[in-house]
Amino acid sequence: MKIEKIHESDEKLSFVLGGINFSFANTIRRSVYEIPVLAIDTVEFYKNDSALYDEILAHRLGLIPLKASKTFTSREECSCKGKGCMKCTATLKLKTKGPRTVYASDLETKGCEIVFKEMPLVFLSQDQELEFSAEAILGKATEHTKFSPGIVWFRALPEFSIKGCDKCLKCIEICPKKAIILKDDTLTIDQMKCDMCEACVELCSEHRNAISIIPSQENFIFYVESFGQKTPREIFAEALEVLNDNLKELAKVVK
Ligand SMILES: [Zn+2]
Repeated sequence: MKIEKIHESDEKLSFVLGGINFSFANTIRRSVYEIPVLAIDTVEFYKNDSALYDEILAHRLGLIPLKASKTFTSREECSCKGKGCMKCTATLKLKTKGPRTVYASDLETKGCEIVFKEMPLVFLSQDQELEFSAEAILGKATEHTKFSPGIVWFRALPEFSIKGCDKCLKCIEICPKKAIILKDDTLTIDQMKCDMCEACVELCSEHRNAISIIPSQENFIFYVESFGQKTPREIFAEALEVLNDNLKELAKVVK
C-alpha cells in the first residue's frame, strides 16, 4: 500500500492511495458516514414570527456545522440513559427582535462553537420576534446527513498507453482537460487532469487506434472535503478508526 499527497488545505485534501482495490476504497469512503458529529437535533420554539415555519427553521438550524468544544459521548452510551445531560448534549439559544437578518453567530452556545458565523438563518421584519432553545447531540450520517463531517469521493487513476502512434498530435488539441503532454518526443498524460472522457481515444480510433485509457484497478485518487467541524486529515483518519472498530466488533461476534 502506498499513499502520496497531492494537495492539502484547511478544507480540502487529495491524495493517491495505491495497492488497494475498488471495494476497499469504497469501504473507506462509506466509513466516513459513521464518524460521530455534533448537530442540532431538537429545537423548542417559544416565539417565531418570522416568515419561516418552525419546521423549516429547525431544519436550517440542524444543518449548521458545529465544532464540539469538549468531548461528548453519544446519547445511547451516556450515563444519563438518553435523557440528555452535559456529557452528551450541547445547548444553543436565541432571543432577538426585527428588523434584522439573524445569523448563525447570533446563537448563544454552550459546549460547542459555530463554524461559519456568517450563515444567514432568517430575516425578521419590524417587531417580529424569534426565541428558541436547541439541543445538539452526536450522531452519524447514516442516521441523518446533517451529521456529516464532510464528503469523500474517489476515482481510479487513469492508465494511459500508446502503441503505433504517428505523432499527428491531434489528441493534444482535442483533450478538453489539456491532459495530454508531449514530453521528450513521447506522448504521456497528466493523470490528475485526465477525467477519462476518452475524446482522444475516439479521435484516434478513426486514425491509428493507438491510444488506450483504462481505469486503474489498484490506484485511486481520494478527495476529502470538510464541512468545517474537522480537518480533512482528521476525517480520513477517523474513517479508518471507524472501519477498524467495525471489523473488531465483527471479529468478536464471529468468535
Ligand atoms: Zn447524557
